[in-house]
Amino acid sequence: MQTGYADDLCITTGTHGRHSAASNNELVLKKFQEWLQWSQTMAAKPKKCIASGLKGGKPFDPELKVWESEGKWFPKYLNDDHFKHLGKDLLADFSEAQAKKKVLAKLNEYVDLVDGTLLNDIPKLWIWANYVVHKISWLFLIHDFPPSFVESTLQPIERRTLKKWGGLPKSGDPSIFFRSKEHFGMGIAELAPLHKKQRLIRRHQLANSKDPRVRQIHNDLSEYQAQRDKRGSLKRGTNEWKECVEMDKLLAEVKTNKIKGSAQTNRAGLGYGPSKHKRRIPSGPKGEREQMLRVFTEIEEEARIVRALTQKKHFSEWLKWQCALAVDLSWQQLLHKQSDSFLRFLLNSTEDSLPTPSVLKCWRQASAGDGKCPLGCNYAGSLKHILCSCEAAHRTSKEAPQSRITWRHDSILLAIYNAVKEQVDKANSADPADTVNRIQNPLQTIFKSASILSDDSEDKAVCGNVFSVPGPKAKEEVLSGASDWKVQFDIDVTDGTSLGYRTSLPFPPEIAVVSGKGSRPDGVIWSSSSKTVIWIELTSPWEENMSKRHYEKKSKYNQLALELRNPQRAGGAWTVHPLEVEIGARGAINPQSWQWMCKIMGFDSNTRDRLTHAVQDAAVHCSHMIFLCRFHKIWETRPLLDTYGWYGAAEVSE
Ligand SMILES: [Zn+2]
Repeated sequence: MQTGYADDLCITTGTHGRHSAASNNELVLKKFQEWLQWSQTMAAKPKKCIASGLKGGKPFDPELKVWESEGKWFPKYLNDDHFKHLGKDLLADFSEAQAKKKVLAKLNEYVDLVDGTLLNDIPKLWIWANYVVHKISWLFLIHDFPPSFVESTLQPIERRTLKKWGGLPKSGDPSIFFRSKEHFGMGIAELAPLHKKQRLIRRHQLANSKDPRVRQIHNDLSEYQAQRDKRGSLKRGTNEWKECVEMDKLLAEVKTNKIKGSAQTNRAGLGYGPSKHKRRIPSGPKGEREQMLRVFTEIEEEARIVRALTQKKHFSEWLKWQCALAVDLSWQQLLHKQSDSFLRFLLNSTEDSLPTPSVLKCWRQASAGDGKCPLGCNYAGSLKHILCSCEAAHRTSKEAPQSRITWRHDSILLAIYNAVKEQVDKANSADPADTVNRIQNPLQTIFKSASILSDDSEDKAVCGNVFSVPGPKAKEEVLSGASDWKVQFDIDVTDGTSLGYRTSLPFPPEIAVVSGKGSRPDGVIWSSSSKTVIWIELTSPWEENMSKRHYEKKSKYNQLALELRNPQRAGGAWTVHPLEVEIGARGAINPQSWQWMCKIMGFDSNTRDRLTHAVQDAAVHCSHMIFLCRFHKIWETRPLLDTYGWYGAAEVSE
């Protein structure tokens, strides 16, 4: 049999009748040589020709003699050397030893190369995800080594390297690098599943080959593997990964999914959610392959979650965040920030693997001390305690009105204030005329040019053919209803510090004179002419408690909302839009309340993105600072972080 690709040729022969395999091969080679000479344009390159044979499964020298060059005969025996054919390294015994060596050497070479540069850790991670992984994936596609090699040899290198660049401790869970964005991960391709994926791709290509002989080889192997799998499940034994069996299982899953249709995965309304599943999938083998790989990826992601669940409960708390809106870990954002410490804090705080006293105690480190809160409140010094619930961190006094927790809260509030102020200024200065667009019926001009309408009927025609259509301003929500909006937030914008708002600025008296509990939302926006008030109440809780805090705040201001809406009220009823938003201490956002706020405020998608990044940055940076100051008992008043300005300034300078 002869196979070839471009200018490479492989001649394989077996024993036939009384002729040995070697003599058959020599015969074919001689005929081939005659053909080359006849063509007058082609010639074999003896030095690049290699021969090898198998006898009883063991390699032997077939001693072929066809071409002579400089006193030596070719093709020469492969022996212990390796030979490259179609990108694949062949050995005399057809084992994968050389391929394994090569992949390992390549991976080590890439790691050393990237690690040796003077780049920051974020670009290093980027190069890993976008270059190294792709280079290695090609080697995975063409070679045949088993997944056990990837898991035992390549995976430790991968995990060690990523943990080093991502700043995760040695005992930390590396799945945060590979998990999808929905599960608060970075979405980097993991080598072990990638290897299986590449093998499945190749297997699927062979199974759907146009060449019936290739399909036959696949069918034979598929049958062989299915039998081994059956035997393996009957008695203990074959533990190896059987790609044909796996492929058949995945394809069956694809078929059932097609029948089932896509189901809702969260509490959002029907049909609501990312549109990625709505993309049209190409038909034929290509589409089938795509769907098969998607099922495979989903199964791998589920396996990661299960592994996280079975680990110690303490370290996989993000599982309870439900469908919170995570901090954007896209490369665009990370490379834009260029801050290794930002990424490091974010990854470690999500995984709760920062060196807090209670984590150190869990790891039995000497520096843990008694594992209690360093501020001396006698509670366990967990990250949750340090960032959110420590009483000492909340404490304020007349001399120091700003605690570390209010600093974070007000920095986030400042970002919201800046966006709201922009929006209110726009609404107040808007020309009421541009809320309505007047559109002329285009048919009218056609009639006119065709002289269907006489001159005296023109006035009539104009009246009947002009439509009033609400313009972009009118479609915007609440704010377009008036132009006398006033804004009052509990921060001093002139020098960017918090006001210690427990003493100053009461609820606007023109709306209502109220006092006591539930009378002071963080921000109030109101218009006396349209009798509309919007208030924003911000919480920056531990992510797990987000929906709990949401309902707490809602009930806190519910009485005030009811009073204002009462039609029998002296001075008339007000339209009230109470907005409670939660930005977690580690930057995850409660998505429903956040989207509702953006809708009521009428933010366009640019402002919404900018504000989302700004509030998340404020939360993460401030929490990082609070964490770094965990041993400092005294908190000095600091200016608030103007993160909304960071994004604005960057856009202007670019
Ligand atoms: Zn404490």
